[in-house]
Amino acid sequence: MMIVMKPTATEEQVQAVIARIESCGARAHPSRGEEVTVIGAIGDREHVARLGLEGHDGVEQVVPILKPFKLSSAQLKVGDRTVIEVDGRRIGGEHFSLIAGPCTVESRDQTLTAARMVAAGGASLFRGGAYKPRSSPYSFQGLGQEGLRLLAEAKAETGLPIVTELMDARDLEPVVEVADVIQLGARNMQNYALLAEVGRAGLPVLLKRGLSATLEELLMAAEYILKEGNPNVMLCERGIRTFETAYRFTLDLTAIPVLKELSHLPVIVDPSHAAGRRTLVEPLSLAAAAAGADGIIVEVHPEPDEAICDGPQQLRADGFAEYAEKVERAAAVAGKVLSNETA
Ligand code: PEP
Ligand code: MN
Repeated sequence: MMIVMKPTATEEQVQAVIARIESCGARAHPSRGEEVTVIGAIGDREHVARLGLEGHDGVEQVVPILKPFKLSSAQLKVGDRTVIEVDGRRIGGEHFSLIAGPCTVESRDQTLTAARMVAAGGASLFRGGAYKPRSSPYSFQGLGQEGLRLLAEAKAETGLPIVTELMDARDLEPVVEVADVIQLGARNMQNYALLAEVGRAGLPVLLKRGLSATLEELLMAAEYILKEGNPNVMLCERGIRTFETAYRFTLDLTAIPVLKELSHLPVIVDPSHAAGRRTLVEPLSLAAAAAGADGIIVEVHPEPDEAICDGPQQLRADGFAEYAEKVERAAAVAGKVLSNETA
């Protein structure tokens, strides 16, 4: 259920409603918008209905949340959108984020060079995997803790906040120490125990859509994180499996406006893993930005031909500034402004 407070409701009235919701064993998730506060009551609908919240001081109305996803639902925010703040960079709303960096952390030189070049080109955040989900157990699995150390060094030098993937809850502590945003990969989208663990960790989360997941399944996965009290979730479209084999995955551009209709959470697009090929990355990025994505997460490498993984799709770092400029212009078409150190 959703309890919409009157614009004139006081904080005491909001607190009284929260206490009442919790008295029946439900959880209260207040969302304070510009105009009104809305409180999501998540629990047994019958129990909440019996509380008689309609007549409570400061309450405007009580409405059911019709979708199976509740806390991620656009309905809960009444027109407001979630804006996530990461070290002064804003993600969501009218802000556009450019998250760039190599697929994986390979060496000190490769990581620091990539970080310097994307920072100079106007990136908002730096990406790089220390723990890699590889299709083959015989492939390079990432540098692990040594990779995290190199990411920390890249941040110390460039000031760019770090986005890095967590695959196993046992690595949560070292990842939380270095990451500003925890990435949950496509293959882990429905690893519910991991989602809940990351929800409790409290850091912003970039949640990737599973290879064959519907948008509703993606939003239900986000719900596992939100339910733990972590409101800072961004959704990431990264291409889905279709019958087409001419490229790696099909980037579902329609997901951008549809997710924004269904949810208040920021929507980020990963053109690199969808495309699998460098030449496709720029056109897909421009299309995503113009379609209203809140950001792009893109793979960039100083020497893609030497990359340990995903070489063919990684942008050349020396072309990044030019690429970023074009993406910034496409985002402006959708009314968004690049959010980085200077903006
Ligand atoms: C990645 O971004 O490094 C990655 C492995 O992506 P995905 O989980 O979308 O395949
Ligand atoms: Mn990759």
